Amino acid sequence: MNALTFIIASETPVASTAVATDIQSVVASATYIIAAVLFILALKWLSAPTTARRGNIAGQIGMTAAIIGALLGHHVVRYEWIVAGFVIGALIGAPMAIWMPMTAVPQRTALSHAFGALAAALVGTAHYCLFFQPASLLPHPLTMGFLCLEVLLGSLTFTGSLMAFGKLQDLLPTRPMVYRGQNFINFAILIAAVVVAVVLVFNPQLRWLFPVLLALAAIFGVLLILPIGGADMPTVISLLNSYAGLSACMMGFVLDNRLLIIAGALDGASGLILSIIMCRAMNRSFTNVLFGAFGQVQAGPTAAEKKAVRSGTAEEAAQIMEAAQSVIVIPGYGMAVAQAQHKVRELYDHLTKRGVDVKFAIHPVAGRMPGHMNVLLAEAEIPYDRLVEMDEINGDFPRCDVALVIGANDVVNPAARHDKASPIYGMPILDADRAKTVMAIKRSMNVGFAGIENELYYAENCMMLFGDAKAFVGSVAKELADTAAT
Ligand code: NAP
Repeated sequence: MNALTFIIASETPVASTAVATDIQSVVASATYIIAAVLFILALKWLSAPTTARRGNIAGQIGMTAAIIGALLGHHVVRYEWIVAGFVIGALIGAPMAIWMPMTAVPQRTALSHAFGALAAALVGTAHYCLFFQPASLLPHPLTMGFLCLEVLLGSLTFTGSLMAFGKLQDLLPTRPMVYRGQNFINFAILIAAVVVAVVLVFNPQLRWLFPVLLALAAIFGVLLILPIGGADMPTVISLLNSYAGLSACMMGFVLDNRLLIIAGALDGASGLILSIIMCRAMNRSFTNVLFGAFGQVQAGPTAAEKKAVRSGTAEEAAQIMEAAQSVIVIPGYGMAVAQAQHKVRELYDHLTKRGVDVKFAIHPVAGRMPGHMNVLLAEAEIPYDRLVEMDEINGDFPRCDVALVIGANDVVNPAARHDKASPIYGMPILDADRAKTVMAIKRSMNVGFAGIENELYYAENCMMLFGDAKAFVGSVAKELADTAAT
């Protein structure tokens, strides 16, 4: 999308008289239509694990078609700038894709949104400057309205995404930073930016106001993210994705490019829908995520805290699972951090060889980004039909012999069902506590994302398996392998 923005912005209109230009134009329109259809199919296919790879490929082909279409349009293109842009982008993007681990995908996404939004803001600024060239006319208020929205959203998304990146990468304090009158100040700055934009729409000749608009939007982006805790960043990033998409959509109106309008609108809508899905899965509202300073909650000592927990060894865990008929594995953030998915696959193989029915319960917000668990388990080539969504699998827990929790915490916390004082009250959870035996692998009694105790660990049917997820699951798999060999 950033590359497309760059190419379209590098185009220079020319008089189209030659026949070749007509043919080029038809081919360009056809590639745009193909690209738009492929973008829509990509989004559809990306929504299910079984079709996600196809969706990814469709998106890539669509973007290639879009770039070819942009290059073929009725335009003379400055290729040297495009090549320079591709080289610089590739030099930044390729190492990020290769070396940043899967657990860092949220911050990587934040950075790419920052660059995309910066591109939109810069293209808008360049376009505004063009209005003041000799023989140029001042823009129509409608064009100016789209342009102001483009730079406002682009600028705030740029700084907001950089802040989100800083918090997720621990470069900035991850806790929510709050102060008195914060929401009022943020709101006042946003209103000021909107007022400046409106004045510019009707008085585009007031050049000095343009940098004021850029600055106000950039400041708002920073202030918007300050009160949001690092843990809420994935939801915020998805929202910023939506803003970046809308900014690109506005740019499509300014540059009269239909593909940018379509791609930007799809990006904007999908980001918004994803944020809504994440909020629902956490039983939170948008306002709570944006203004709730979640992550500040300091849980006081609970009754559960004072109880003792029962802990077990890898050998005990292997014996219990061996004797089970059905095991439901519940992966969570800890599995992702430990990169334990390949060991989990080994465990799955050993158990299924023994005739144990093994399924994986997928909570929509397990881990730190939507689809986090699906991606990791798919990487370890666990069959898709073994991955069961929360609503479908919850009814199976009372009949299952073992619920094996691997680095998950909040998504199996029964307090979400009954404790009205809990910050996660109302969040739908996986009913692991209803299994005959629960085994939970984690390194300590530390809390998870929501910062609260989990009463599940103190339940009579629960055995704690303390250790790093990768090492512990590996030990259990080894125990099973050893007993199979003897
Ligand atoms: P969680 O509640 O954050 O708990 C993860 C647990 O993993 C921790 O308690 C930690 O305990 C353990 N852990 C960490 N490193 C480990 C390692 N190397 N080996 C073993 N265990 C390890 O995770 P979750 O149950 O997956 O829940 C996700 C949370 O993130 C939810 O509250 C959700 O609302 C939130 N969230 C998710 C998304 C999303 O899109 N997925 C977006 C925003 C927020 P120890 O330190 O004791 O090991």
